[in-house]
Amino acid sequence: MTKVKTYFPTAFKAEGIQLTPEFKKEHQLISSIQINVSDWLFNQIQSGNIKEITNQYITFHNEVWPGWSGKDLAGKQLSAWHPKKLSLRHLKLHPDIQNIYKKHIDFDVKNINQSRLDDVLWKVVENYKSFFQRNKKSTKRKISLKTHKALNWKNGGIWIDIPEKYTIKLSTLEKKKFLYLKYKKDVYNNSDFIDYTSSQGKGGNISFKGMYENDDNFLVIQIVEEKDIQVYKRTIGIDINKKDSQWITFSEDVFKKKQRAVAKPDKIQQLTKQAKSFNGYLLKDKKKLNSKQRNKLHKRKLRLERKLKIAIQEEVYKTLDYFSAKYKNKFNLSIDDIGFGAQKSFGQEYIREACIKWSKKNSIAFVICPPKHSSSACPNCGEIHKQERKLLNSYVCKSCGHFHPNCDELGAENIAKFGHFLLENIGISSSSKTKQIVIDSTHKLYKAHAKAPDSNKKIKPKLETIYIKALDKQFFDSSSR
Ligand SMILES: [Zn+2]
Repeated sequence: MTKVKTYFPTAFKAEGIQLTPEFKKEHQLISSIQINVSDWLFNQIQSGNIKEITNQYITFHNEVWPGWSGKDLAGKQLSAWHPKKLSLRHLKLHPDIQNIYKKHIDFDVKNINQSRLDDVLWKVVENYKSFFQRNKKSTKRKISLKTHKALNWKNGGIWIDIPEKYTIKLSTLEKKKFLYLKYKKDVYNNSDFIDYTSSQGKGGNISFKGMYENDDNFLVIQIVEEKDIQVYKRTIGIDINKKDSQWITFSEDVFKKKQRAVAKPDKIQQLTKQAKSFNGYLLKDKKKLNSKQRNKLHKRKLRLERKLKIAIQEEVYKTLDYFSAKYKNKFNLSIDDIGFGAQKSFGQEYIREACIKWSKKNSIAFVICPPKHSSSACPNCGEIHKQERKLLNSYVCKSCGHFHPNCDELGAENIAKFGHFLLENIGISSSSKTKQIVIDSTHKLYKAHAKAPDSNKKIKPKLETIYIKALDKQFFDSSSR
């Protein structure tokens, strides 16, 4: 059975960090190495040695260095390597780069933590990547590395050591040596949400407010949690609607009634109305209010939105718990995507958020399904017919005559079908629309869908584009039928 990689971006914020002398020493070491590597890379670009920098490789015009034969530091032959390319894992093998880090470390080279070293080195390459792409062949000046503002642990190496003890554990450039930092406050109260027992730790960014000031330092770790989740044969589709009577429609009956829609409860209707009028008021009276008044109103608005969010979550959890009991958690969810930035869509984004939160809690695979054609595609023949929904909410296919009494239910069914296809064939799910797919998974996509799998040139297409492309190809592309 298939498993999908699911991404859950979580921000963990710790305030009142106490930086230790050991941390400052490590920071100094990393900065020195990165600055030297930056100089080196800049010179390589300036001398025209570099052809391309992508997420995966630095490609040179010629052999990376004379005699590069694909051997690792221990002299073992690597299975995948290219004479003109350096990847994340190969950069540390370059003789110039070896000279750089050997110059700075004060411990035995044998004890170097190689994956941490990869992280530290590749961070510099990432900084040059977009710069190089923008400016093509010439860069006039070096990129100044902002090592005093942030340190990056991309591929793991951060642990919340023991949540109750308010300690963060960090990997260092030296094998089996760790740094421990105390903090005073877990701002979002989610440190126990982060799996601190995993052997690899979490990847993330640590940003400093003031590197060497005593008190007000804070760390923000943006952690993208990754979980492999089982995909089952049953996918339940969720259609989100503006109409109060068809607020959330499922692709199957809910609560043992012969009914698939959940109407918006009165309490939520009230809260939505309040939030709407409040927002209108805030926008309209912009000029008349001073900043103090505005701040006060803004705070009230936030409180109201929070209330609404909680109420919606309660409602969503009730229905999902019903399915959970009915199918013993053996199903997937396909959730309607809703437009962003729509001022009118009060609370609809909270439905999606609640579904995702619930899925995470229950280890249910989910997919955010783009809304394109979900309520206008005929499930019988696949043709697209937009329906006139102001008078009647039923569906009639102009091509084959297929009839469905309810467009929202049809939408939920289509969302279930499309979502199931995406989960099974692309094998990737995401809780954030803008989260970009990792290269590894795009290969899967290209294999399944692309005409020309020249994948190295295409860098991380956005999820939405990928989803829509895949759906179009499968369900709406007339040539494939
Ligand atoms: Zn039809």
